[in-house]
Amino acid sequence: MNMKIAVLPGDGIGPEITAEAVRVLKALDLKFEFEEAPIGGAGYRALGHPLPESTLELARASDAILFGAVGDFSLDNLPRELRPEQAILGIRRALNLFANFRPAMVYPELVNASSLKPEVVAGLDLLIVRELTGDIYFGQPRGVQVLENGEREGFDTMRYKESEIRRVAQVAFEAARKRGRKLCSVDKSNVLETMQLWREIMIEVGKEYPDVELSHMYVDNAAMQLAYRPKQFDVIVTGNMFGDILSDEASMLTGSIGMLPSASLNEKNFGLYEPIHGSAPDIAGKGIANPLATILSAAMMLRYSLDQSAAADRIEGAVKQVLAQGYRTGDIAEPGRKTVGTREMGDAVVAAL
Ligand code: NAD
Repeated sequence: MNMKIAVLPGDGIGPEITAEAVRVLKALDLKFEFEEAPIGGAGYRALGHPLPESTLELARASDAILFGAVGDFSLDNLPRELRPEQAILGIRRALNLFANFRPAMVYPELVNASSLKPEVVAGLDLLIVRELTGDIYFGQPRGVQVLENGEREGFDTMRYKESEIRRVAQVAFEAARKRGRKLCSVDKSNVLETMQLWREIMIEVGKEYPDVELSHMYVDNAAMQLAYRPKQFDVIVTGNMFGDILSDEASMLTGSIGMLPSASLNEKNFGLYEPIHGSAPDIAGKGIANPLATILSAAMMLRYSLDQSAAADRIEGAVKQVLAQGYRTGDIAEPGRKTVGTREMGDAVVAAL
């Protein structure tokens, strides 16, 4: 049976980079059916809403979603609910995509792009699994209230239900199983009640995965260890707020925004796959964007949603090969070095396959 992929290119460089990822998928000996729909600013222009109902329907009817990026500065004056960026929040919520996967890898050829010493980051390959739909970002009550003395007080609430912790624990353990079988749960259980529950549930779920080594780390220490000895980690699982911060820190260890893929999954491993960067309006339409983050997102899609690990390995191997052959888009090239455009980079990956 064909695997149905919803292709949502979005804005800016989105259409250029998703086109290359689709070409790479088509070069595999697998059967896909691709269907495209507008989202973000493109959704608003075509159908009056950043997340049109027909786009959501297509996403629901597919086996996986390949997403480019959304964001269009010329629409920034629209009311908040019609801004392009609302589409990504809306689709995650609508499809209950509660687990965000952010790998950070350092390729030997790009080791100098990191701001850390090469020996600290060479060979780095870690995955951060961030819970995406709970925690202090969504917990009620929240607000700003006026106290009796007239002073204002802001408040938010950190909340996690047992079921929310358990389901993200399960996907993180499953992911660790597909990698180096080491999972580090990051919390703040020394100070926060919610995080004590988090740790308890992690330990409980860990009993179902005796083949995965579970460890725990406080978030302040994890932030230090990521910068100090990042290679000690295989998979990190953490809550929404801590994951927000740590995943950005981890991506900067690699120094190359145009190389990093991501996934957002539900409990059935259905997911949305996208590069971590935005729509890069400054270079849109010029044919110079780096398509590798999106191509690597397509590889993640094969591994996590479509059960095609061998094909995922092939794509990742092809990306390593083109880097070794010296292909560089402008964002990852050393000064003075020859660069290729989006299309040529896609061609090189297809040829390497
Ligand atoms: P950005 O990630 O789009 O760009 C930051 C810088 O990195 C720019 O100089 C850009 O040219 C460069 N860059 C990004 N991707 C690149 C690639 N593949 N190849 C080469 N260079 C690349 O972030 P920004 O400029 O802060 O935001 C632009 C728009 O994207 C905004 O509207 C923002 O809200 C949106 N955004 C969307 C997402 C998403 O869709 N998930 C994520 C982040 C930002």
